[in-house]
Amino acid sequence: MSSVDLTTGEPSTSGVCYECGVCWTVYDPSKGDDFAQVSYGTAFEQLPSNWTCPHCDAPKTRFLRVPA
Ligand SMILES: [Zn+2]
Repeated sequence: MSSVDLTTGEPSTSGVCYECGVCWTVYDPSKGDDFAQVSYGTAFEQLPSNWTCPHCDAPKTRFLRVPA
């Protein structure tokens, strides 16, 4: 399994990261989601309800908040 590097070296500007409960892909609001054309700075809560994991297509409900 590949690991995700969470160390950006810069303070988070908006909100927290969420992690897919299926494939452990992390959604980082400071990066957005190129796959779904979500611009950086978009909080997880602001993602469209039909947004799914870019890696495994799991729905938002399968994502878990990553403890800060
Ligand atoms: Zn996933």
